[in-house]
Amino acid sequence: MTPLPSAPADALDGILQRHRHDATRLLQILIDAQDLDGWLPPPMLTRIAAALDLPRARVEGVAGFYSFLHTASVGRYRVLFSDNITDRMLGNAGLMDALCAKLWVEPGKRSEDGLVSIATTSCTGLCDQGPALLVNGRAIGQLDHRRINAIAELIRQQTPLERWPAEFFRVTHNIRRRDALLNLDMAPGAALSAVLALGREGWLTEMEASRLRGRGGAGFTTSVKWLSARNAPGAEKVIVCNADEGEPGTFKDRVLLAGFADLVFEGMTLAAWAVGARQGLLYLRGEYRWLRPHLDAVLARRRSAGLLGPAILGERGFDFDIDIHLGAGAYVCGEETALIESLEGKRGTPRIRPPFPVTHGYLGRPTVVNNVETLAKTCLIALQGGAAFAATGTAQSAGTKLLSVSGDCAAPGIYEYPFGVTLARVLEDCGASDTQAVQVGGAAGLCLAGYEFQRRIAYEDVPTAGAFMVFDATRDLFEVARAFVHFFAHESCGFCTPCRVGTALLKGFMDKLADGHGAQADLADIEWLDRLLKNASHCGLGSAAPNPVIDTLQKFRPAYERRLLSLDFEPAFDLDGALAEARRLTARNDPGAHLATHEETRE
Ligand code: SF4
Repeated sequence: MTPLPSAPADALDGILQRHRHDATRLLQILIDAQDLDGWLPPPMLTRIAAALDLPRARVEGVAGFYSFLHTASVGRYRVLFSDNITDRMLGNAGLMDALCAKLWVEPGKRSEDGLVSIATTSCTGLCDQGPALLVNGRAIGQLDHRRINAIAELIRQQTPLERWPAEFFRVTHNIRRRDALLNLDMAPGAALSAVLALGREGWLTEMEASRLRGRGGAGFTTSVKWLSARNAPGAEKVIVCNADEGEPGTFKDRVLLAGFADLVFEGMTLAAWAVGARQGLLYLRGEYRWLRPHLDAVLARRRSAGLLGPAILGERGFDFDIDIHLGAGAYVCGEETALIESLEGKRGTPRIRPPFPVTHGYLGRPTVVNNVETLAKTCLIALQGGAAFAATGTAQSAGTKLLSVSGDCAAPGIYEYPFGVTLARVLEDCGASDTQAVQVGGAAGLCLAGYEFQRRIAYEDVPTAGAFMVFDATRDLFEVARAFVHFFAHESCGFCTPCRVGTALLKGFMDKLADGHGAQADLADIEWLDRLLKNASHCGLGSAAPNPVIDTLQKFRPAYERRLLSLDFEPAFDLDGALAEARRLTARNDPGAHLATHEETRE
């Protein structure tokens, strides 16, 4: 094995020391090590394995799991085009082709001179200002051909990113409607002072009264989660903020982290006070790495203000601090047990439950995992009281909800509404017209047709983590569903066979239909796959994977049927075309050497 050159070896030693040679920080070590040269050469993996006293296969297994880690060399400029359906609707494919052509590089490959590699990645959380891309982890939105030309030139000239036009990297909050949370103008520490005055029991009583439920999609009651962790045996308790906002079409956590980070960190500290935790971890999705310097600065400011660290606000025994961990491009890590595995430096494979994280979470400690928005909302409760919080919303859904609105509408962006708002109201506010369907809750959510637009955003009706993607009458809902199916097949972690194989089969069926080889039998097979994935998958990704197809199949069946040949069964390829080579070799091209066409068969 080739040893590492001495300069990278010294730098790697520094990284290992900074992470205290702690194997549970393996993912963070790999991310930092990759920054040295853009990828993880085999000798580097070997050195890391030896330094952490881990089997090399374990280190390589982790490096191979995350799509933002590279075990083969990539370009010095690594460009990743966001490939959510909304980016596609805005023409990302043509823009990527244009950049590839200008830089003489094939999609998915590295240029011969090692300067650049260009590929796609899943949703980057910029659907309100797409099409978007990441270049060496920095986000650029509002792409058009002019901007692509400029990017090509900057790369060709090997201009360092720091000297690229600042406006390229400007990401706006795009807040279109504010309600209780986004109108909250809180001085840092105000919510903490309020709960310290209440005492632990009083604070938990307010949380119960608020009926706050998790904003990440599952809707579990937050106070129950906190109480379970507080009552679980074990002195070391942990608060985790799930900032792995990977659901396609969701970007509200981006805005909360970029513009309201104090609310999020203060919410984590409020949770720590209730639960008795000393350790906090914020798991930041790799696509939001560009937010890290800002978040580090907010944490540093809060430490100097006595809002983090020992004896917070002078309260003896109230010691709590927050560390940021980066993800590296794995959608499944949004699932809380996969996220915990990832925090422990492993592949992000969902755990078998029970036990649940509230009793056996991060490093086996009682752990609360809450969404970014959930934690920010706790500041409202601390300041205004649980009853005031519960006074808005619906019977089962208290408070407000942030929606990430994108797609075919005049005003994409962030909208905050009390729970219970109808889809029709949101569509009107965002300037949508001639709307055919809305995908609520991302790829794993619901596709709602026009006759359902009076339904309400609420856990008891249309639950959502926040994504609200609008499709007007010009859109082909089959292609929308196909894009989501491709997404799930790509993001399946491969741990369980039903999902690993089922999502690939589903993708194959959709591609077969798209290629004009579909038959009624394929639709029946898709429905059978739906049952299989729902019943046999290990985690929510697998069970939700068929949702976009099943929804659109039920509500927009003509989009599928017009792609079908009218046979019960049709192979996925052109049989007659496949025999062309045999005809050439035998010098036959008479009618008998051809398969009969379907029309002829029916006649
Ligand atoms: Fe992994 Fe899919 Fe199984 Fe979940 S259902 S554990 S994502 S393979």
